[in-house]
Amino acid sequence: MLRVAVVGSGPSGCYTAQSLVERDPEVHVDVLDRLPCPFGLVRYGVAPDHEKIKSLQGNLRTVLEHDRVRFLGGVQVGGPDGLPVERLREMYHAVVYCVGAATDRRLGIPGEDLPGSWSATEFVSWYSAHPDAADEGFLRDVRSAVVIGVGNVAVDVARMLVRGAGELRPTDMPQGALDTLAASGVTDVHMVGRRGPTQARFTTKELRELGGLPDTAVRVDPADLALDPAFADLSALPAAQRRNAEVLRGWASAPRGDAERHIDLRFFLRPVEILAGGNGRVGAVRFERTAPDGHGGVTGTGRYEDIPAQLVLRSVGYRGVALDGLPFDPSAGTVPNEEGRVLRDGAASPGEYVAGWIKRGPTGVIGTNRPCAKETVNSLLADAPALASREIPADPLPALRAAGIEPVTWPGWLSIERAEAELGARLGRNVVKLADWDTLLEAARTD
Ligand code: NAP
Repeated sequence: MLRVAVVGSGPSGCYTAQSLVERDPEVHVDVLDRLPCPFGLVRYGVAPDHEKIKSLQGNLRTVLEHDRVRFLGGVQVGGPDGLPVERLREMYHAVVYCVGAATDRRLGIPGEDLPGSWSATEFVSWYSAHPDAADEGFLRDVRSAVVIGVGNVAVDVARMLVRGAGELRPTDMPQGALDTLAASGVTDVHMVGRRGPTQARFTTKELRELGGLPDTAVRVDPADLALDPAFADLSALPAAQRRNAEVLRGWASAPRGDAERHIDLRFFLRPVEILAGGNGRVGAVRFERTAPDGHGGVTGTGRYEDIPAQLVLRSVGYRGVALDGLPFDPSAGTVPNEEGRVLRDGAASPGEYVAGWIKRGPTGVIGTNRPCAKETVNSLLADAPALASREIPADPLPALRAAGIEPVTWPGWLSIERAEAELGARLGRNVVKLADWDTLLEAARTD
């Protein structure tokens, strides 16, 4: 009987576990997570107002409740205080790392670390109740915000910045974030792309949603669209870009009515510096006007534009982080692999696998993880006869406990869920997430 550890309980980890138990009638899978709560970015990355996507949690839950799958939360693998990769490897026939892309890409421009300039992930983690997130006073005295990047995360944070209390209250957002966002004085959000509108990374469904937000007008400058050569003949574009372009063209030609808040979508502007205001915090972002280079990229024009802002959210993509003891390709931010088999010095390392963003980089939607996990599981099961012959402990749990780790098991997670439902009921809301380590762990141990 094969015993497999999956590290990470987000979509890629859950799909890996699912594929394993569906394909091998005897395999036992432990899904480890450093957090006491499962579901990774579905819990801590999907925007709280995207209930339909969040409901995918139900599917992932079914996987973790399978009788040959066991959730073990609060187990850090790697790092100074974590379980070493080599030790984990001794406890299981195979280990699949599904640890995602835990950090953000940097802009590498002056002023990036000024107070008031945050990565979109820091902001998302705060309103998603991630226990490592801090309340940075994101919206203090903010009227104008600049969001750098035009991907789906940029669309999420722009939308959350203009949502009102009535729309936020039904979500599971923590009360502190809800109060702050509901009282926000933000009137202008500028979402800025360095290339043209037909090269933006957002998807049409997400883009279109911006047009339906109460009391908010979306504005697009027709001059930005005219700069993009692809706008001359939209029919030549792939369907996804054409749909985006049509939505943007509709907004560019719409009459400018009165609205309390505005989202300005800007293009062909690349950030060159974040400028301090008189109070030492962010005051503006300086952009250089760019022009298409004819090969899908842009060149600088030497003309600059400053957009005033008291808040800057850098939304320029995630980045994988090296795990001690595992090989890592720093240029790609991934673990070198072949069809999911971890490569050490170019050769497949027996019993070590990757799936999800740490395997292929931070792209694609949640469903992209399903075929990615399947490919990895194919490789693992092809190797299984050789892997299963190695002696391992009958149950890794006592070994984990001997290493000083007391995992949060499924009943512990169910206790957290109950505590979140009770908190919501006390506040007159639906489920409200617990937002700090102590409260989560206390709830997990209260069974
Ligand atoms: P993304 O899609 O890779 O977009 C990153 C954006 O940052 C691009 O516009 C990129 O422009 C820009 N950028 C990168 N480096 C830059 C720089 N130095 N200066 C200025 N701009 C820069 O990343 P993401 O938005 O973080 O999303 C990650 C993944 O999660 C995506 O696959 C996304 O679809 C997915 N996601 C999906 C949903 C949903 O389905 N609702 C929600 C959130 C996230 P260039 O194109 O010019 O590089």
